[in-house]
Amino acid sequence: PETILEVQGLKKYFFSRKGLFGGRPSVLKAVDNVSFKIERGKTMGLVGESGCGKTTAGRTIIKLYEPTGGHIIYKGEDITGYDSKKMLPLRRSMQIIFQDPYASLDSRMTVADIIGEPLDIHHLASGKDREDRIKELLRLVGLNDDHASRYPHEFSGGQRQRIGIARSLAVEPEFIVCDEPISALDVSIQAQIVNMLEDLQDRMGLTYLFIAHDLSMVRHISDDVGVMYLGQLVETAPSEELYQHPLHPYTQALLSAIPIPDPQIAKSRQRILLEGDVPSPIDPPPGCRFKGRCPYAMDICSEKDPELVDVGGGHYVACYLIKK
Ligand code: SF4
Repeated sequence: PETILEVQGLKKYFFSRKGLFGGRPSVLKAVDNVSFKIERGKTMGLVGESGCGKTTAGRTIIKLYEPTGGHIIYKGEDITGYDSKKMLPLRRSMQIIFQDPYASLDSRMTVADIIGEPLDIHHLASGKDREDRIKELLRLVGLNDDHASRYPHEFSGGQRQRIGIARSLAVEPEFIVCDEPISALDVSIQAQIVNMLEDLQDRMGLTYLFIAHDLSMVRHISDDVGVMYLGQLVETAPSEELYQHPLHPYTQALLSAIPIPDPQIAKSRQRILLEGDVPSPIDPPPGCRFKGRCPYAMDICSEKDPELVDVGGGHYVACYLIKK
């Protein structure tokens, strides 16, 4: 299998020289030393509470933000230092679907122009070809040809997300960052959009980085899942392995918040309650970022950052409780 994306020690820091974060120079470590790989045609889920850096990570990977450190290898090319000109040919290949389909669609444009704009930017089709392509894209996401002349406000949230997806697909991408694409939708609509994304993946061979705040949202669509806490990846594993055998106390806490229908599994899983908010990622002290909320914290947890340990089968955990 081909590795389409490899992220090595990725960092995205936001610096403030004065004032912003309380009157002294500070650094917000939104993404701090994150590494993972995605194979072509697979989905990696990235989860964590809001403020954990998952969205910043997704945007940095496709260079909407300049990385502070680390490497982004896309299709064998190190694109970390690429400027916007060098990124241009790759822009078609790497797309993003946003959380809020309403905010991301221009309300003054018709659906045809919203979907047609990327075709124009990349000079992919004009005239009748452009029209046909727009209709084909609408059908691909389950909408009708006659939706083309309408405006975003005439559609429901789920339909608007379909329009956003059609726009991303217009340029025939290979890799898509799905940035919480279902979080703003009704529960009844979420499954429809996830099913559609899976179907499109099969038909078009797409690779996804699927970002969500809830582990239950990414379970079925993801081949692998990474859990982020305060800018760091604390655990990553094949999806079912992570759900059956979560090893990091934070992953266990996230999972124990999801009701488990199977009483056998429910009994074997210790319930950990997450108390308090996620601490600030500004000037974080050394050591495990989870120590303030972890029931098992030890002295060493405050001394240095735990590194991801390979426990076999593609399962990695960053916690001093876990030995190789
Ligand atoms: Fe808890 Fe320490 Fe493990 Fe962090 S490293 S999760 S504080 S036991």
